[in-house]
Amino acid sequence: MKFDLHTHNERCGHATGTIEDYIQAAIDVGLTTIGISDHSPYFAREEDHAVPGTAMAKSEFDRYIEEVLRLKEKYAKRIEVLLGVESDFFPEHLEVYRRAYANYPFDYIIGSVHQIYDVSIFNRNRWKGLSDQQKTGVKRHYYEQIRDSVHAGLFQVLGHIDAMKGYYPAFADIPGAEAEIDAALQAVAEHDIAIEINTSGKTKHCGGWYPSDAILERALHFGADVTFGSDAHVPARVGDEWDLVRSRLKEIGFTRWVFYRQKQKIVVPI
Ligand SMILES: [Zn+2]
Ligand SMILES: [Zn+2]
Repeated sequence: MKFDLHTHNERCGHATGTIEDYIQAAIDVGLTTIGISDHSPYFAREEDHAVPGTAMAKSEFDRYIEEVLRLKEKYAKRIEVLLGVESDFFPEHLEVYRRAYANYPFDYIIGSVHQIYDVSIFNRNRWKGLSDQQKTGVKRHYYEQIRDSVHAGLFQVLGHIDAMKGYYPAFADIPGAEAEIDAALQAVAEHDIAIEINTSGKTKHCGGWYPSDAILERALHFGADVTFGSDAHVPARVGDEWDLVRSRLKEIGFTRWVFYRQKQKIVVPI
């Protein structure tokens, strides 16, 4: 089994290629399962298309689902296509999101914290002028939000759980949030969901993957499951570095990884 649960497409406004292009790319690189998981619309915003370059319009969501389901049928004999979505996690709007997803046959939902204190986690200017103590505060709050996203009970996978290092590599070395990171990982293990190893870090300043090996070691210690996501925004990145991730996980000591079908965990030995 070779799978990739995290892929985008042109609907979000900052990726290229159609869903079908990503499926074709997955077949070309020998995946047996591909998850389509475009960014969720901003369901809590009044406007239909609140942030065009970031996510699809609310009114587009039905068509997104229909297209994935149609392609799932079309490609059934060649590759397994899973219906997913990368959902923002806004604690204050959780019920709006829960309702928005309730009537669709998702195989899984990736929960991603993309904003902390209303500022993008990828915005490196947010760190300017902060004291060490304030930086620790932001990092703690980030992992508290990630832990809360587990308790929301809406997500099977947590997306890129140290992505704040994406454009600010020094994030990884901010001390003082170890307890919050551990609490988030413990929650993942207790709720039987998974974190992804997301290989898109290489396209950002930090290089490498999300999360760091150090966090993966903690995840293993607590018994948290892991899955794979390229976070491809171009078809050529589908399945990117899957084999390398697999061997790294093996080195760290993982004996299994997982994906989700109809929200049921499928365990794949490593
Ligand atoms: Zn994106
Ligand atoms: Zn994301």
